[in-house]
Amino acid sequence: MKHHCPLCAADADTFFKDSKHHFLLCPTCLGLFRDSNQFLSVESEKERYLHHRNDMEDKGYYQFVLPIINQVKLHMTQGAKGLDFGCGHTPVLSNYLIKEGYGMSVFDPIFFKDESVMNVQYDFIVCCEVIEHFYNPAYEFQKLFQTLGPKGKLICKTHLFEVGIDFDTWYYKNDPSHVFIYQAETIRWIKNNYLLQDVKINQRVITFSK
Ligand SMILES: [Zn+2]
Repeated sequence: MKHHCPLCAADADTFFKDSKHHFLLCPTCLGLFRDSNQFLSVESEKERYLHHRNDMEDKGYYQFVLPIINQVKLHMTQGAKGLDFGCGHTPVLSNYLIKEGYGMSVFDPIFFKDESVMNVQYDFIVCCEVIEHFYNPAYEFQKLFQTLGPKGKLICKTHLFEVGIDFDTWYYKNDPSHVFIYQAETIRWIKNNYLLQDVKINQRVITFSK
């Protein structure tokens, strides 16, 4: 069976396969995507996300989201309007950004499903450890860039696959809810395909500029 890349639709071949994980490598955008036969049910996905810790009092979690907060502060003046897309069961990142003076809306396909927030345009959108969960990245990025106002920023945190990482033993691909893994080339493909002005990659933080 042929597998089509869910980001750019090219035909892709197996990159890695063992008893638990099957990933394909797209020859066009260099995205690595999980065989859809391995996708979790909505129930087990929700179960997993409920165990994700994100607690306002948790110093570790603050450090985890700090690179995103820093990017927002670098590019946006106080009062700018933001969307926390894929905020999880507790929108902690949004709460930190509200404390910094930003106006925040939240969306999560499992926990905060109010689609009406997607009908507004935002100055910036944050996606903290979200884009690797996209079953249909072409659809999701299209929607995100539509929701972003002129000169808006989409700030994402994810772990890119790069030279030096041993995929076979890599923790990031072992999470069964991680279904699309990006390389730096994939990020540039997105920037070009969606006709964005710019993209900057700073370790795990990616800032797209419209
Ligand atoms: Zn592709």
